[in-house]
Amino acid sequence: MDTTKNCQEIKSTITDHTNKYTNYVLQKILEEAHLQNRSYLTEPESKRLLENTGIATTGYEVARSRKAAVEISNSIGYPVVLKIVSPDMIHKSDSGGVKLDLKNPNDVRNAYNDLIHTFYAKQIDGIAVQKMALPGIEAIVGVTRDPIFEHIIMFGLGGEFVEVLKDVSFRILPVSEADIDTMIKEIQGYALLKRHRGVSVDIPALKELILKISNMVSNYPVIKELDLNPILLYESGNMVVDARIFIDKNYNAPSEDSTIPDLHDFFYPRNIAMIGASDNKGKLGWNVFRNLISHNFKGDLYPINPNSETVQGVKAYKNLDELNQSIDVAIVLVSASSTPQAVEDCCKKGIKYIVIESTGFAELGEKGKKAREEMLAILKKYNCRALGPSCSGVINTHHNMVQSLGLVDELGKGNVGLITQAGVYTTGILWDLRHIIDFGIIATIGSKLDIGETDILYHLGNDDNIDVICLQIEDITRGKRFLSAVKNVIRKKPIILLKSGRTDVGKKTKLSHAASLAGEEAVNSFAFKQSGIFRARNNEHMIGLAKGFAKQPLPRTDGVMVITYTGSLGAIAADSLYLNGMRLGKLEEELKKQMQDILPDYVQSLNPLDYSFTMSPSELRKTIEIGAQSMDIGSFIVVIQTENLESFFNELKEIDFKDKPIMTCAPGKEFTLHSVIKMEKAGFPIYSTAEMAAEVLCTMYDYGDKHGFPTQKARHKVA
Ligand code: ADP
Ligand code: MG
Repeated sequence: MDTTKNCQEIKSTITDHTNKYTNYVLQKILEEAHLQNRSYLTEPESKRLLENTGIATTGYEVARSRKAAVEISNSIGYPVVLKIVSPDMIHKSDSGGVKLDLKNPNDVRNAYNDLIHTFYAKQIDGIAVQKMALPGIEAIVGVTRDPIFEHIIMFGLGGEFVEVLKDVSFRILPVSEADIDTMIKEIQGYALLKRHRGVSVDIPALKELILKISNMVSNYPVIKELDLNPILLYESGNMVVDARIFIDKNYNAPSEDSTIPDLHDFFYPRNIAMIGASDNKGKLGWNVFRNLISHNFKGDLYPINPNSETVQGVKAYKNLDELNQSIDVAIVLVSASSTPQAVEDCCKKGIKYIVIESTGFAELGEKGKKAREEMLAILKKYNCRALGPSCSGVINTHHNMVQSLGLVDELGKGNVGLITQAGVYTTGILWDLRHIIDFGIIATIGSKLDIGETDILYHLGNDDNIDVICLQIEDITRGKRFLSAVKNVIRKKPIILLKSGRTDVGKKTKLSHAASLAGEEAVNSFAFKQSGIFRARNNEHMIGLAKGFAKQPLPRTDGVMVITYTGSLGAIAADSLYLNGMRLGKLEEELKKQMQDILPDYVQSLNPLDYSFTMSPSELRKTIEIGAQSMDIGSFIVVIQTENLESFFNELKEIDFKDKPIMTCAPGKEFTLHSVIKMEKAGFPIYSTAEMAAEVLCTMYDYGDKHGFPTQKARHKVA
């Protein structure tokens, strides 16, 4: 091995990441590890690095003789600890490699002998001699690299809390001080930190330590994994007792890419050429072109078909060359094997965007893979962007544009944006949902050759027709870029994500705690939490949230008025409000009097207000109108008898204040679809359970509270 060259390489990797300042200690340690062909740093090396970053440790001196061990012990002061330093011994105490609480030179000599004797068959690089730390609360801080989100940091309490309960929290690096604050607070064991045997640990010092680790790893991404286990937490300060660092000198951090693509013409094209438009009913090429025609696409359509003069009554062209004008978007729907050629033709024609609806690349195996690579190279060469393949195009109701593979009926123009992987899912849900919810843009991303969820998210964030964004996807590409898009967009509109969790099959045994606990699902859930995205449990939850955000204004105070025809559902709504961070509001004295005047005398509580089966539509309306005048009430949950939904609807739709949301619940709503559709169309989201109505309301409040109530159109009616 040419070590000089490799040292040069590693030096340049390090300096690449440290253009602001150079950490010579790290550089030296890494060179040493590299010369010895090691991918990890020993405990003394790791601690030296930490001390250099300003983190307190029990020390990193290494003795290579018994005499030296005693001398070091004498100089640092008793009691001390001796530990084996060996590349073969990563978990030292498991096999007796840690000797604790040595009180005098004699103890040190015996412990030294013992260690040498026990590990005589292993490579011994020395014996670490360090201070015996005072007892404290054991915690663990770890870093590992996630395939999607890059470096992530973990915090938890040591011992059984990590091993058995897996009571840890994660954040994507770099972390803010607010992230650190929540990651400490969200572990179950937080109560122990606050008050353990009457004493609280030094939380500010703990936060500082986490921040230092975050900065160190962000500055030196060659650090692949890190385990500080344990750190002892004290009433004042903390102490790292054991440290382990794994490095990957070949690692190149992906460049920060927060470029915001301009996809306006992709979503609002002046014209569309379709390669594979068909005149044969029953073919997918017929469906897509039919959808474009039947929804009255707001631009010109150019079917490309060498075998027909016209396609569905529109003049057809043999090839793109026959067209004299520039084209904004081309749809390609031909066999997988002919697709690369079609893509190249589009690029040569100067078309900026291609929607590849062709499918079957996976089925072609190696050939399919090659075809994808070929297409990607062509796109790069011509600076062209493409959606798909295996997608079902884009729907933009505000541009009368439906590119779906499945036939789609009339759609209203709505304010919900949806990014979804699967085209069939879209057509499937649209079939039913279009009665109760209006979408603005639906983009199906398919197998993401080029344009993916992040590009589209940026567009939806900037599109004034969209007020709320849903994502229904299986995987996220380039997690960091996705998270910066979320950060950018979520200040303007709420983002709801439905992502199928996957089990972590086939994970190899991991050396560090952080890596073994960082399952895909765990990392995802913490990453999404950190980003502020709302994670839906299932399809129903996603649509429930989307309806609330799309149709109603955000509640501006946490006080809610619950009006119900049955006390039990009123109580359930109230419980759910308190569980999710809202509360029952209080009427002012004057409003109380007004309310009492219209209520039957057996009504006892004004909130939840229980009408006990005698609630009439006009009474409900009056009650809401009085409640809406209260400064303490910012929203309503109304539980309605399903059988009378229609008459309630007639009154509710007359309510004219628009700044306080009204969420409704009708327990048997599935059986009165006609009335449900009327309510939903008038802009009143209706739920089967009081819990869901309350939970959605609380999510809306949470969003507004966090993001300063971005402007939002009040009570959107479905067309
Ligand atoms: P391992 O490689 O097995 O994780 P550690 O260095 O973490 O080895 O030592 C095992 C345990 O011994 C620690 O969890 C801690 O409880 C205790 N320990 C180790 N070093 C010290 C020290 N310097 N002071 C006090 N306790 C220590
Ligand atoms: Mg340890």
